[in-house]
Amino acid sequence: MEDNRADVQTIKERVDIVSVISRYLSLTKSGANYKGHCPFHKDDTPSFTVSSEKGLWHCFGCGEGGDVFAFLMKIERISFPEAAERLAAEAGVSLKRRGDGERERLHTLSAEVMAYFSENLTNATAGEKAREYLLHRGYGEETWERFGLGYALPEWDDLKKRFSKRYEIKTLTDLGLLVKGKGRVYDRFRDRVLFPIFDLSGRPIAFGGRSFQEEPKYLNSPKTVLFDKGRHLYGLSWAREALTAKHSAILVEGYTDVLSLHLAGITHAVGSMGTALTQGQANLLSRFVNNVVIAYDRDAAGGTASLRGMRILRNSGLDVRVARLPEGDDPDSLLRRDGPERTLEILEAAIPFHLSYIESLKERYNLSTLAGKERALAEARPFYQGISSLPLKEEIVGLLAELLDLPLEGVREDLGKRQQHWRPTEEPREIEHSWGKEEVILSLLLRGEADFREVATLASPEDFSQHYRPIVEALATANDPFNLSLLMQHLDEESARRASYLALAPVRFNDTGKALQDALIKLVKLPAIDKELVRLREETKRCDKEGNLGQVDELQRTYSALVAKRTALVAQKHPRRGRDDKG
Ligand SMILES: [Zn+2]
Repeated sequence: MEDNRADVQTIKERVDIVSVISRYLSLTKSGANYKGHCPFHKDDTPSFTVSSEKGLWHCFGCGEGGDVFAFLMKIERISFPEAAERLAAEAGVSLKRRGDGERERLHTLSAEVMAYFSENLTNATAGEKAREYLLHRGYGEETWERFGLGYALPEWDDLKKRFSKRYEIKTLTDLGLLVKGKGRVYDRFRDRVLFPIFDLSGRPIAFGGRSFQEEPKYLNSPKTVLFDKGRHLYGLSWAREALTAKHSAILVEGYTDVLSLHLAGITHAVGSMGTALTQGQANLLSRFVNNVVIAYDRDAAGGTASLRGMRILRNSGLDVRVARLPEGDDPDSLLRRDGPERTLEILEAAIPFHLSYIESLKERYNLSTLAGKERALAEARPFYQGISSLPLKEEIVGLLAELLDLPLEGVREDLGKRQQHWRPTEEPREIEHSWGKEEVILSLLLRGEADFREVATLASPEDFSQHYRPIVEALATANDPFNLSLLMQHLDEESARRASYLALAPVRFNDTGKALQDALIKLVKLPAIDKELVRLREETKRCDKEGNLGQVDELQRTYSALVAKRTALVAQKHPRRGRDDKG
């Protein structure tokens, strides 16, 4: 697989991203970058930015972005191999087929790891909690076996110890089973129930883990040679036959939703593994069906990510309907309480997604007031602009005009207006006000203005929030020397969008070293101290109860010293001295 990555790398070096994108839209030079009108949303600004030097593009209007492959895939609606093939021809690179032997070996490893996790679930003492959890939810041993469920032990290195005898650490890391952080390598999945994710032919290629208490509740394998969340659907191999027979799919969010539906005999259900549905998943679905019923819980179904996903499905030619689940329910809980018959009734009563959206506006805004109408209309703008079908757009105009009691013409014009968003300016501004510590750190790293090794000695991927973790892991892989274009190859679609934003956003830092230090203090040092302070307080309370006064004194001294250290760190973050100017 290294061969293939090297080929992709060569293609990127030889093909100029600006000339590829220029075939689809006109770009004009603006500072170090190029700008144009985004082909993926109605854009009068222009918001579409391309950097020839970084090999990235990003639209600051709709948030799409990535490298040259991502652009071609999106605009031509083709898969990665197809995009690679086209660009390879252009670059005069002959793509080496990934060694079948190597791929086979990874498949074997995946299957062995699945068996190891299953064994933990059935027999390990530490697996008791997981067994109880699953049994309590009505999943008996037969179900574990049918869906390959497993359990990851709480240790940091059980998998590593067991598999590193026969596989290289690099292979285990490449498959996302191990994580690099703070100078060590450890098991990604710990103390989690595991749901293997299978490819179309039923081979395990990745894992989704559910935690009992630790955040995040759900953790997936990262993008690997075998798996890309944006191009797979959970349960597709089991649903395949039913999908073809019914020409219709039920799309749910979670692993247990898929399991419960299948156990109830509703076998045309597949899981999107989160609500941010991608073009790749839409392409996959459209190979099997022409109708999709979305069955997310209500809050999720109304979210921006999910609405975006529905538009992608609709724009891919699928008929998209939304099931109106009772408040607070997901398909799993609905089935459990009301049984399969009632669940099917609700699924079958799903309404077209644009009607469901308009319904939700009615629920969320007070449309009898002027302000309510204005807000609803403003919210509907990006929704409307993301739809490509003219008849559908017209229907939405009609429905909204009726709902808001406004003239058709006015509503049509208003919905078509350009969106208010952060426009790229000629002059880079100081750090965007909405940026937090993570954005600052990652942006500096992605621009090559900070050294990952420095960050990695203090922070591990787990110190970052879930949606930035894949970027941190990719940085760990593509570091030394830092290579942005190689890094992009390790990112799934969603993470690539985030990365292109952070790398291209027109911001500047007055003092990069200081910005990095401040952000690291906030990300790692202060939380660690706060955790220790809580521990010390509890310990003190305990010793006090036991009458161990000498120990209490000692603990209080440690506590004060730590508080002083914290104060000093915060002060260092906001020094009183004048700013040193490195421009
Ligand atoms: Zn755009």
